[in-house]
Amino acid sequence: MKRVSKFFLLPVVGAAVLAVSACGVRAVPEAKDETTSIEADETSAAEETSGISIESNNVSVPAKIERAKFPYPYTARALTAVNMHVDSESDSAVVGVLEENAPVSVERNIEGWDQFSANGQTCYVLKKYLIPDDYIAMNNQFLGATLDLSHIDPDKPMIALTFDDGPKAEVTNRILDSLQQYGGHATFFMQGSRVVGENNDCVKRMVELGCELGNHTYTHDYLDSVPVEGIRSVIRKCDYMVEETVKVAPTVFRPPGGNRSGEIASAVGNLGLPMIIWSIDPLDYSTKDADNTFNVVMEKAQDGDIVLMHDTYSETADAAERLIPALIEKGFQLVTVSEMAQAKKYPMIPGNEVYNMREK
Ligand SMILES: [Zn+2]
Repeated sequence: MKRVSKFFLLPVVGAAVLAVSACGVRAVPEAKDETTSIEADETSAAEETSGISIESNNVSVPAKIERAKFPYPYTARALTAVNMHVDSESDSAVVGVLEENAPVSVERNIEGWDQFSANGQTCYVLKKYLIPDDYIAMNNQFLGATLDLSHIDPDKPMIALTFDDGPKAEVTNRILDSLQQYGGHATFFMQGSRVVGENNDCVKRMVELGCELGNHTYTHDYLDSVPVEGIRSVIRKCDYMVEETVKVAPTVFRPPGGNRSGEIASAVGNLGLPMIIWSIDPLDYSTKDADNTFNVVMEKAQDGDIVLMHDTYSETADAAERLIPALIEKGFQLVTVSEMAQAKKYPMIPGNEVYNMREK
């Protein structure tokens, strides 16, 4: 909010006041960054005489992941007043302020950013600030239809430990034991093909302990090598194995290897699943060094982080057994991805990537 009020103190640039103000979009002089103090740029006189003079052919669209099919286009609202950028980069020029509750028609998404048009100007806003109008229908998980948050203090730090590629009973059970002992939750992105035999009991324990079930495809299928028409199948086969076991469907998805593209996002989005990536990767799967895994996570852990680990290595269980009490001792609440999203009111939209839920 502070940055917005600073904009109001700037000299009015008449020509820059876009006609779209009626829907809550205001123009401001160019600014470099949302977080730096905004001062009139003495060198931008030419821009001031012509209003917003960012030419479309200057708008470079980097080679980022794009998605266009789902759920775009859609109408969204700003959760708070937020800067509109000329490009999908946080250090790109600011061309206006989108007011809280202002509606926009999202045309496209470029990794982490929503693109829309305002007065003929292409604008970008960090997607976390926009919430689709039909969000209630899209993601009742976020709205807490089934989540009990009574054990979470939203004002205290929290972190989401996530474990991929299991379940593998001799490893997963050790992690579950520790979570049970210390009262923490975690999210498990499982391969459907592993939800068999004694591993089934792990999935039942996850549900009993309040952990979250995640989908990691049927056989760790790298989605960039799966035909588009087959993506749905490898995800649904994992859902099926989990649902058959515990009558609870996975609520989140992580693409094996972090593989993602517009087509993958579209297919995953159509299944109603947000794509959970990560913000801390201690490389447990390659180092198989519990000390290193422990140290990396403890050094990097911040409120809102999502930690990637794998419950297929005994060394990861070694690390988790130390991390779980140590993180709690350090003041972190160990929560599932969806618990964190709800506690922090972070919109998890089907098909969109979530890297972390830090405040900034
Ligand atoms: Zn994996």
